[in-house]
Amino acid sequence: MNNLPINEIQRFSFDNTNVRGERVLLNDAYQEIIKRKEYPLPLEKLLGEFVAAIALLRDIIKIDGVLSIQAKGNGFLSTLMTECDEFQNLRGIVQWDETQDVPEELPLKEVLAGGYLAITIQPRNGQRYQGIVEIIGDTLSECLEQYFLQSEQLPSRVWLAANGSQCGGLFLQRLPAEQAQSTDEDAWERLTHLASTVKEEELLGLETIDLLHRLYHEEEVRMYEMKTMQFGCSCSRERTFGAVMSLGAEEVREILIEQGCVKVDCQFCAEKYEFVEADLIAALGDQAQTH
Ligand SMILES: [Zn+2]
Repeated sequence: MNNLPINEIQRFSFDNTNVRGERVLLNDAYQEIIKRKEYPLPLEKLLGEFVAAIALLRDIIKIDGVLSIQAKGNGFLSTLMTECDEFQNLRGIVQWDETQDVPEELPLKEVLAGGYLAITIQPRNGQRYQGIVEIIGDTLSECLEQYFLQSEQLPSRVWLAANGSQCGGLFLQRLPAEQAQSTDEDAWERLTHLASTVKEEELLGLETIDLLHRLYHEEEVRMYEMKTMQFGCSCSRERTFGAVMSLGAEEVREILIEQGCVKVDCQFCAEKYEFVEADLIAALGDQAQTH
């Protein structure tokens, strides 16, 4: 594969079945996310799986707003988060215990001890919805499969891979019989079995049309419009100011006394925001005054 930017999300289905699928392959959108911070390779790979997963979910859960996957725990990792808005802007972050050596393998159940995975749907207008699953498996794929079964009662299979340059994913879902014309009784079993032969180098190295041909050359695959994604951060000076204000006057005053100004670095894109006393006084009043 060449080094051109490939950030593609492809929806597909199989004729005469109730099975649908998604495939994602990202390179520079993923690289933009991981280069914002000095991540050791095992964390780049794990974050890549989360990035591939949010890209898959973005096309499955159609909302006008922001979708996020967040894993939280009390092990070597404390937070892993990816987010995508309706303009296909992706961002993500990992927080880990930087005093420890980074293990080669990162089984989720262990590194996010006692943790959970939350999928949050935040429409531009309307109620926020959050689905939470306990982390009982070692891979993100297992956690997502459990999420779909629990929240949508739809059998789903997910394959994810990342290597620090590319991240990719494949998703299959069996829709309720009444939603699709299915005459093919054992389609789900056959199609998921074929998908489970996919190799990491194929998930990361083949363009979608070639991957689907490799897996499903004997099936009637229908492909839909391809979408793209890019790195993008939704932070702004205004939103950051709002976050600083939410600390409260007393806290802000203490920071001003200690540091002379309030500095905030966006964790997703490393953009630096700085607020001096004059910026804050107007909003906080005299309480923020340091002299
Ligand atoms: Zn940012």
